[in-house]
Parts: sequence; structure tokens; C-alpha cells
Amino acid sequence: MYKEKLVSINEDPFIIDLMYARPDNMTGRPVYQEIGFGNQAWVHPELKERLLKLIPLLQQKGLKMKICDAYRPPLAHTLMKEIIPFPGFFAANAERSQHCHGTAVDVILTTPDGRELAYPTKVDGYDPLLAKEVQSGQMENFMKHLKKAARDYTSDDPALAAAIQNRDELRLMMESIGLEGIPLEWWHFDLPGGRSEAYPMIDF
Ligand SMILES: [Zn+2]
Repeated sequence: MYKEKLVSINEDPFIIDLMYARPDNMTGRPVYQEIGFGNQAWVHPELKERLLKLIPLLQQKGLKMKICDAYRPPLAHTLMKEIIPFPGFFAANAERSQHCHGTAVDVILTTPDGRELAYPTKVDGYDPLLAKEVQSGQMENFMKHLKKAARDYTSDDPALAAAIQNRDELRLMMESIGLEGIPLEWWHFDLPGGRSEAYPMIDF
């Protein structure tokens, strides 16, 4: 039996800072603000239940977890696709995006005062410039970014050692509560089966 309602995350040590509520994401627009959704982390109850299990571990490590995306209103997804119509940047339709089902989160760890730990890339670091380059057929920087955004990216560069270690620790932490990462975005974690009929797409 599924629960249709979403619940919001407000508990410490979670920091809510949704990238699409800010203008410095790849669309260059605060899409979530534009549609009146704002900066709120709503998720499926089962996903929240699992995330809350991280609290003792986060406290023990003296870290906070920043939520950079959670539930994405289908309207926002449509608007994002309109701003960047290039295929491959966003799921083909809202149905295909686990964010629109409330069953995915984009997360990173921060220090207690909210400074982000080092990672191989920024979360969803496809900035507006990169998005424009791709749409005009310049793929070089995009491909470089894509490679580093992969969860299995490795490098001999000692400057990246800590970033890679932080990324791997994040993954272990999220897998310990039964969430699944995806190969191409080290920051994205899904509730298993979260696009199935048991987790309907919820319009807000
Ligand atoms: Zn995501």
C-alpha cells in the first residue's frame, strides 16, 4: 500500500538549499520560486523515514547534509525543459524523473556551519554557460564535466583525493539506508523502485 502524501524535511542537521530555488543553476533562473514553490524539501514519507536514520551518524561525524533537490513539481520540470530544450539535460518528461515522484534527493555533506565538503564537481554543475555551449554543439567542456560527475570517476591527481573520498563516503552513507545512487550523478539518490506505480507522480 502506498501513501500518496509528501512530507517536508525541516529537521536539523539537514540544510534545505534547493538549487532550482536559486538563480545559479543551469537554467539561470530560480524556477521553483517562479512557480511559487519556493525552497522546500518535500519527499515521499518512506524516503524521509530513511533519511532521518542518518541523523545519529551525521551528529557523530559532526556534519550536516545539504539537500540540493528533492520533490520537483511537474510544472517546474516542464519549465526547465522549456528553458533548456536540449535532450539529455533533464528527464524526457516529468513521469520519468524520480524527483517528480518525490522519491529522489540530491545531497552533499557540509561542515556544521554549512560549508560544503570538497567533491569532484559541483552538484549538477551544468551551469548556464555549459548549457549554452551544448545547445550550440560545443561538447568539450560538457564531456569533461560528465566524466567527473560519474560516481566511479577516479583520478591520480592528489588534489582530488579528498573530493573522491568524500564522494565515496556519501555513497556509503546513502546506501546504508537502502537508497540507490545512479552511475552518472554522484549526488543523486533514489528510493529503489521509486518510479513504479507504488509511488505515483504527485502534483502539488
Ligand atoms: Zn537528482
